[in-house]
Amino acid sequence: MDQVALVVVRAVESGATTTKNIVDATGLSRLKVERALNALEKQKLLFRESKGTWTLGIPAAPTVRQCGSCTLCCKVLEVTDLSKPIDTVCKHIMAGGGCEIYQQRPRQCRSFSCAWLQGHFDDDWFPEKAGIVLHFGLDTLNVQVDIENPERWREEPYFSKLVELSLNGIRVTATRPYATLIIVGENRYLLIGRTIVPDPTLFGTAFVPITIDTFRYWKARSLEHLQRLNERVMEIQRIQQEFGHCTIPEDDDPYPPYRPALLELSKLSGPAPAK
Ligand code: SF4
Ligand code: SF4
Repeated sequence: MDQVALVVVRAVESGATTTKNIVDATGLSRLKVERALNALEKQKLLFRESKGTWTLGIPAAPTVRQCGSCTLCCKVLEVTDLSKPIDTVCKHIMAGGGCEIYQQRPRQCRSFSCAWLQGHFDDDWFPEKAGIVLHFGLDTLNVQVDIENPERWREEPYFSKLVELSLNGIRVTATRPYATLIIVGENRYLLIGRTIVPDPTLFGTAFVPITIDTFRYWKARSLEHLQRLNERVMEIQRIQQEFGHCTIPEDDDPYPPYRPALLELSKLSGPAPAK
């Protein structure tokens, strides 16, 4: 998937459900957004709902558990076709669990199953007990926290597991890298190991390790900005390999060539110029 399509998907996941909202949220041209929407619709990764809004159509994996009394996703998630905002109890939840319009429930509800239901987590993560719904996006593990207990994800055993999951997701060797995104009401946090990035942008975050599980990060303001940040990160890593050390710069708007500034900052000498 190209970078523009990824940014459009992230915008929809963040609640921009009309074409205009997506253009406003991303700052991309309407033409680029419409092209990406058409391509995503053809791939059945996005659907246009009856009210003209866009929703994600990532096919849910088979489930191995039963929801039982849990109805947390019917509260914390937005259902655009029902005009149900996030963190609002759906009017169709039945007492004791279940959906009173089960046969006619919207596509968003039909295609959703949380990661616990799919068998990925132990019973500490039963959503009704945890107050957290974990679900997979295209390139994210979404951690949707019940607004009634907004700090729950920072508590144990949840936080340590989320740190482990986020480190797995950013490993270059991961078969399918993913970002770990915490959603608490209107607030979003990207988790990179133990480092919490508030209000991550739709364009991505460049980062380098400081310790085994903490990171220095820079939030990108556009796809071009992300590319420059990532190029500098690669140069930092090359210098670290060569010299065993590179001072991490503070500035967040680098332009090439990156190496001379990094060597100067680190008080290192580059290779002698060729004669
Ligand atoms: S959060 Fe998971 S377990 Fe709870 S109702 Fe939704 S899909 Fe079922
Ligand atoms: S319509 Fe049914 S499945 Fe969908 S959110 Fe409401 S209660 Fe849940």
